[in-house]
Amino acid sequence: MILTITTTWQPATDLGFLLHKKPTRCLSYDFSFGKAHFFYPEASPERCTAALLLDVDPVGMVRGKSFRGPGLLAQYVNDRPYVASSFLSVALAKVFGSALRGECREKPSLAGREIPLLARIDVLPARGGEGFLRRIFEPLGYLVRTRRHGLDEKFPEWGDSPYYSLELEKKTRLSKLLNHLYVLIPVLDNYKHYYISQPEVEKLLAKGRGWLAAHPEKEVITRRYLKFQPGLAGQALARLAEEEGLPPEEREPGEEDARAGILQEEETLERSRIGSVLAALKSAGARSVLDLGCGEGKLLRELLKVKEFERILGMDVSIHALERARERLKLDRLPPRQRERITLIHGSLMYRDKRLEGYDAAAVMEVVEHLDPPRLEAFERVVFQCARPRTVVLTTPNREYNIHWEAVGKTRLRHPDHRFEWTRSEFMEWAGGIAETHGYRVRFLGVGPEDPRTGPPTQMGVFTR
Ligand code: SAH
Repeated sequence: MILTITTTWQPATDLGFLLHKKPTRCLSYDFSFGKAHFFYPEASPERCTAALLLDVDPVGMVRGKSFRGPGLLAQYVNDRPYVASSFLSVALAKVFGSALRGECREKPSLAGREIPLLARIDVLPARGGEGFLRRIFEPLGYLVRTRRHGLDEKFPEWGDSPYYSLELEKKTRLSKLLNHLYVLIPVLDNYKHYYISQPEVEKLLAKGRGWLAAHPEKEVITRRYLKFQPGLAGQALARLAEEEGLPPEEREPGEEDARAGILQEEETLERSRIGSVLAALKSAGARSVLDLGCGEGKLLRELLKVKEFERILGMDVSIHALERARERLKLDRLPPRQRERITLIHGSLMYRDKRLEGYDAAAVMEVVEHLDPPRLEAFERVVFQCARPRTVVLTTPNREYNIHWEAVGKTRLRHPDHRFEWTRSEFMEWAGGIAETHGYRVRFLGVGPEDPRTGPPTQMGVFTR
């Protein structure tokens, strides 16, 4: 991807002083993720353009990492080399460090001047669309021009991509423009490559000083910059409120919103999980379905809405969970035809149970991680040897993803009752072993936002025989 900054300030070659790089220079920088090249495509007294070209190497980034196996494709084939992402901010800080701080050694007065500037980025991912680009750049006074790119110019019928060319034009200080880009490009990037922790709050507040506190979208910007981590976003928003001089009670809604942010993320993930499991069950053509470890019946409720599922059985070891499910599903008030389709039973996946036999498919959603590892073999026999449905759709957390959640981190588990959480390769090994022993085939899918390094938050195995 390429970022260019053009000025028509006279003499335009003063841009070289502001960037601390002579207009005749061409420089290259090494980063862990690839290379950055800096050069001036044009440098005349009337018009001068500086270009920063990022050459991200997605293969180099993963080389030497221990994880191997299928489902790896996204680590190698992704949009990183082509889009402005959080890598661009890393490069901006290194290549334009002094300019970001507003320093200009040789012409100090120049740094404080507002000069005509035009920044162009090819290309920027904006899943919120052009509207979102405008909402974050226009309040800063930029004239915003966008061009949306099609998915493939040879196949116009495939429609639009989420990628835009963006131009921002304004008479402003160069340091302001660079600070806006530094903060706002990662906001548009759903796959920030780094681990978000306290230093990111400090960076956000430092680079956002003087403009973020008054930005109408400051909450969205803060939450997205800090990857929806409620503790950090709450803290940053409180400090922004202080900067704006608001009384303390005005700050609390920000924290509330941040908490709502993480809850929303969990809910979104749960919805995607249910959606993925349903899709797998439907495409298996199942008419009768088991929900093993059905809990409070969130999946059961959705199963009931699909008329193809003529016979549904929910099973759980917890009487309390089953009672909650009965209430949630309003079983006692269902019309008889509906009521006949569903049965709830109390039982354990540790013991062979004849009531589980004769079903087309089974869902085992977020259950195995609640079982003690030595008891997994019993589970395996109960489901794959005795009940033996043609399709088993099983989901479990992907431990690698936990680093994106501050509250969980690298070593802890997501829930106090989890006995373990598997990495992708651990899950594949376990599931592959089962498939081999019991005569199933298994394919793996991700649920939730796929991060190029850690994979998705939830992993799903679909077993068929
Ligand atoms: N599938 C539900 C609930 C997941 S929580 C959902 O995704 O929303 C895990 C569930 O597994 C709990 O309801 C727990 O009671 C159940 N469970 C744990 N051990 C079990 C066992 N041995 N047999 C059956 N259910 C079990």
